[in-house]
This record gives sequence, structure tokens and C-alpha cells, in this order.
Amino acid sequence: MQSAAGSAPTYDIVVVGGGSGGYACALRAAQLGLSVALVEQAELGGTCLHRGCIPTKALLHAAEVADSARTASTFGVRATFESIDMPAVNRYKDGVVRRLYRGLQGLVSAASIDYIQGTGIVTSSDTIAVGEATLTGRAIVLATGSRSRVLAHVPVGGRIITSEQALALDTVPARVVILGGGVIGVEFASIYRSFGAEVTVLEAMDRLVASEDEAVSSALKRALRKRGITARTATAVASAKELDEVVHIVLEDDTTMEADLLLVAVGRAPVSENLGLEEVGVMTDRGFVRTDERLRTTVSGIYAVGDIVPGLQLAHRGFAQGIFVAEQIAGLDPTPIVEHGIPRVTYSDPEIVSVGLTEREVQDSFGTAMCQELSLSGNGKSQILGTTGFVKLVRSASDGPVLGVHMIGGRMSEQAGEAQLIVNWEAMPDEVASMIHAHPTQNEALGEAHLALAGKPLHSHT
Ligand SMILES: Cc1cc2nc3c(=O)[nH]c(=O)nc-3n(C[C@H](O)[C@H](O)[C@H](O)COP(=O)(O)OP(=O)(O)OC[C@H]3O[C@@H](n4cnc5c(N)ncnc54)[C@H](O)[C@@H]3O)c2cc1C
Repeated sequence: MQSAAGSAPTYDIVVVGGGSGGYACALRAAQLGLSVALVEQAELGGTCLHRGCIPTKALLHAAEVADSARTASTFGVRATFESIDMPAVNRYKDGVVRRLYRGLQGLVSAASIDYIQGTGIVTSSDTIAVGEATLTGRAIVLATGSRSRVLAHVPVGGRIITSEQALALDTVPARVVILGGGVIGVEFASIYRSFGAEVTVLEAMDRLVASEDEAVSSALKRALRKRGITARTATAVASAKELDEVVHIVLEDDTTMEADLLLVAVGRAPVSENLGLEEVGVMTDRGFVRTDERLRTTVSGIYAVGDIVPGLQLAHRGFAQGIFVAEQIAGLDPTPIVEHGIPRVTYSDPEIVSVGLTEREVQDSFGTAMCQELSLSGNGKSQILGTTGFVKLVRSASDGPVLGVHMIGGRMSEQAGEAQLIVNWEAMPDEVASMIHAHPTQNEALGEAHLALAGKPLHSHT
């Protein structure tokens, strides 16, 4: 590791931002024998490791343990749920983050990457200023990520928080209102409900997780209602403020609500301001860096990866883009990433996983959509776990490949792997049906859905 002060050598690549996109790019580039400087102003690992994927999934696991204790008697196990010890939950969560953080630091230093702590600013097509130092790179990779979007009429502070503060709460609020029914909002709704809070989700659009297939949104709303979570769609907030230790929320229809905590989860804004982009000619669109399919910005030699590039804001997309750019700079001619082939997971209870096009997208693109839905009710492992849900397959023609896989149900995130192979390899239903799926697994439901689509359903009525 190196400080920003003093002169620095010329690198093959200077990466600005050490989150999923940036560090993946740095590691792959170093693997390919390139010299790399990685500039990070806060902590290596970025949002995903410190304020996103990992800490939220640790909280979701604690939530699952709480629910298992509550429902233990259903399975004939005598256990009593007492309470949530938030400081202990946070110790567990922070321990997971700390161990992964140490591992990542070890990886970066073992890869002989020059890790530079500081804020990078683009000063030309091949230079980055970090404090007094100037780093020169044959290529520059921008990977500065995103931050929670906030709303002017809902000022954050005190009991009005974003996901960053939500990860550090040391008590469980009694009444939580979550503004935003997207992935982050729904995951926190799930966590708080399992921790014992009364939870209301307010979503301005007419359905939750609006980028998912409509059938999944409807099933999620029903499942959340069953868990005691109120989800109000087509409901916009006019204003909110903290008063007398309570948050007062006014909706656009003039009705009011009160909560002990208001979590604002209305998306993520790109971190691209004060980075020198405009000055050197890197064009942006509402803050997102414009790139072509090879992730080249409008300035030759400058690339961008991760959440600052318009599209899905997911860690594994950032990893894939970082690797792609490293290989591109090393002259390997990698294949461009197909955005709709990236698996998407919402880790609420129930979980949602999808790859490819929704029914509506197939309908819009091909004029017709053909669907096969298979309920998890006939799936042995789902019965054992006590979960419901479905697998939905979408294609455009009866002799065409599967274009979209959409699933909802407890633990269904584990099915993302096969679903993405099916969509990305443009598998025909017969080909998947001929693969043997282990019994009893939830994975069988994916196999059964393809058997049904291939015209030979086994455990379903014809
Ligand atoms: C609550 C939450 C839960 C999430 N859960 C998931 C999940 O389960 N799965 C999933 O795939 N994704 C999840 N995400 C999204 C995921 O975290 C992001 O997609 C991913 O972190 C984006 O990686 P990135 O490298 O583009 O940016 P970031 O991870 O944001 O990293 C950018 C880095 O750049 C640094 N930086 C910024 N400006 C400068 C500068 N000028 N100089 C130097 N350094 C700079 C920042 O400090 C930061 O470390 C979640 C996000 C949130 C908020």
C-alpha cells in the first residue's frame, strides 16, 4: 500500500474506486500481468462489502433465524423466541464484513496492486490526481459507484434514514415505514418484520419490485401481506418530518401516517460529481457515465464500470464489467456483457430470482409471449421447508428457447445458477428437461417446469 504523497510511476491501468467493479478490474488486470494502481477514498470493497450486499444478507440471515425460532413448533421443535439483541446481531454482521474485508485486503496486496488511499480526480485522459500526487495510466477506469438517492421533500436526518444508517441501528423500531418498494426497500421490510416491527411499505408505482415480472410482484405483495407487512402501492409521499420523536408522513392524498422510523429506499444515485469528468469531456446522463457496449466512455482511454454505468446496479454486474474492462485493456477481446442475462435476486422472505425477459418484455419485443408457471406446492423440498411460490418460464414461440425465468419462494435465490445457464445458453425446454434434477431439491421445480413446457409434465395435472 502506498500513500498519495510523492511521485508515482506510470501504470497500465489506474482504477478510481475500490468497490466491486473497481477491485475486480484491478485484480484481473494484475492477473494478466498489467501494472495497476487502485485509488480508494474510503474502504476497499465499497458499498457491497461495507454497506450493501454482505451486511444486509447477514441481517436477513439473522431474521431467518428469528423466524425459525418463532415457527419451531410447526416442525415439532420446542424453542422459544425471546427477543432480538440488536448489538449482538450487529456484532455478528460486522464480524462477517470484517473477515471478508481482511481477505480482500490480502488479495489486493498479494496481487502487487498499488493501493492508494485518497480521492481521485480525473485531470486528463491519462492522469488521476490524488492529493498532491499525479498517477498516469495507459488506461483509466472509473468505478466510483453510487450512494442512496434522497428526496428534497423528505429530508434525511434523525429518524428519517437511508440504508447506510439502517445498517447501524442498535434497537428495533416499533413502527417502520419504508419509502420505496424496490429491492432494497423490500429486503429491509422483510428484516424489520422478522425482528418484530410493524412495517408499512409505500411505493409510488403500481406494484412492488417493478422491474420484475408482474406475476412475481403480485405474489410478493400477497406473501408480504401474509407476513403482516402492509404494502401500499400507487402511494406517493408528499412530505415527511421528524417531530416529538416521531416521524410524521403526509401522503399525496393528504392522509397522514406516523412512524418511529422512516427508511428512504428510493434507489441509488451515481457518484460522478466533482470527479473532473466534464472538464476532460467524459459525458454523463443524469450523473451516469455514458459508455458503449465495451464500456468505453466518450474519452478515448477512459472506461467506466459498475453502478456509475446506466443499468442494473448489482455487485456481480460490477465484477463482470471490471473483469471485462481489464481483459479489454490487456487486448483479449472479451465478449460484451448482455445486461438481461445478468441474474437478479431479491433476498426478502420470500426470495425472488429472475434472469432474462419478463412476460411483458417478451410480448413487447416479439408480439407474443408464452408462459409456463409451476407452483412450488408440489415440490417436496418446498413442502419440507414450508414455503410456497412458483417458477415461471417465458418464451416467444412454442418452438423457441426460454427467454426468461422468474421464481419466487423461500430460498429460491439458490436457483439463480441454473436459471442463468438456461437463459444465457438459450436452452430449449427439451434440453433442460433431459437434465436430471436431484431429489428432493427446490431445483427440481425448475426441471419440472421445463418438463411441463416440453409437453411431458411429471408431477402436475395435465
Ligand atoms: C443496501 C444494499 C444492498 C445491496 N444488496 C446487493 C445484493 O444483495 N447483491 C448485489 O449484487 N448488489 C447489491 N447491492 C448493490 C451493490 O452494492 C452495488 O451494485 C455495488 O457495490 C456497485 O459496485 P461499484 O464498484 O460500482 O460501486 P461501489 O461499491 O459503490 O464502490 C465505489 C467505491 O468508489 C469509492 N470512490 C468514490 N469516489 C471516489 C473517488 N473520487 N476517489 C476514490 N474513490 C472513490 C467509494 O468510496 C467506493 O468504495 C446492494 C446495495 C445496497 C445499498
